[in-house]
Amino acid sequence: MTILHNTWGIYVHVPWCHRRCSYCDFYFEIGKSDSKFAATVLAEWDARRQSFPLLSAKTLYFGGGTPSTLSSEQLSQIISPIKSGQSLHPDAEITLEANPEDLNPCYLTEIKQAGINRLSLGVQSFDLGILKWLGRKHDSKTARAAIVHALEAGFTRLSVDLIVGVPGEDWQQISEAISWLNKIGVGHVSVYVLTVEPLTPLERLIEKGQRLRPIEDAQAAAYEQAQAILKEQGYRQYEISSFAKPGQESQHNRLYWAQGSYLGLGPGAHSMLLKPDGSIYRRHTQGILSEWLKDPLAAHFTEDILDPDHALLESLAFGIRDLLRGVKVKSQLDRHKCALPKSFFRTVENLQERGWVVEQDNCLFLTPLGTLFADAVAREFLGM
Ligand code: SF4
Repeated sequence: MTILHNTWGIYVHVPWCHRRCSYCDFYFEIGKSDSKFAATVLAEWDARRQSFPLLSAKTLYFGGGTPSTLSSEQLSQIISPIKSGQSLHPDAEITLEANPEDLNPCYLTEIKQAGINRLSLGVQSFDLGILKWLGRKHDSKTARAAIVHALEAGFTRLSVDLIVGVPGEDWQQISEAISWLNKIGVGHVSVYVLTVEPLTPLERLIEKGQRLRPIEDAQAAAYEQAQAILKEQGYRQYEISSFAKPGQESQHNRLYWAQGSYLGLGPGAHSMLLKPDGSIYRRHTQGILSEWLKDPLAAHFTEDILDPDHALLESLAFGIRDLLRGVKVKSQLDRHKCALPKSFFRTVENLQERGWVVEQDNCLFLTPLGTLFADAVAREFLGM
């Protein structure tokens, strides 16, 4: 596994959405993006960049909310100065999360010129009934058109998000949709199992009897079914939720799982920095848009430091989610400058006996069975 002492990324949180999807518990505001957004991101960038490594960042990720609510000019206003200040590697992966209804050929050409080289599309389903169930704005035709237009505009790195485990889903249709994605040249698919988060409109609808509550066993079966179909179509699973053709893996997400450093800009953004003593500094800017727009540095935030021993446990728990690279224990010890906890070998032995983890070339990997219990494995590492 690559040691990420100096590799780092930039995350920009774009807090606007056209409307609320019923299952969503992220921080966002309904409406159009504010004209001061780009200038405020840059002000925050100028002030906080110094704390991060001198080397240029390898990834820049616009997440949300719905980042495709930004105009191509706004994206260019943010990307250009960061690029020209040599803070972004010339081959950096620059991703925009986008909703299908925002993508027309003209916008796609413009955002490509602005520097976006990877798109992550919030498609979720190609079934109109399921899209309505989830409260999404687009329909299947719009989703397919957005994908075709993105490929025609020259986006060779394209990811499609799907949600499975929704009551009433049609597996024949999901299978055909995945086969279409493969045929048309989409290199990356993320699969999320629907979760009913507390206090969401979906939870209220379920409580009122207006939606069926998803059944856990059926959801686990749905995840396994998605794994099998994607494998059949040549997508390699490289993380619990992520499947890619070789070379199409998301570098930014891999940075998160490897506990690499990242600078989060915008209201609601998280940052993380590996310190020279092996500890980890974490910061979360609170999601209060008006406060952040007024002065991003005066906006409320919380911060904490994980000492090297605890940082090591987190690195093991997250690192093992990378199914292809696994987690190299020796590298993590060097990185965090500390020793293994006494219970480490017993914990690993126990996980191996359950068939969830294997060791190979001094790396720990999740087994196919272990991917179904990844959260339990993480809890075992964090509890050592
Ligand atoms: S578009 Fe994404 S962030 Fe916005 S409400 Fe829907 S799920 Fe949440």
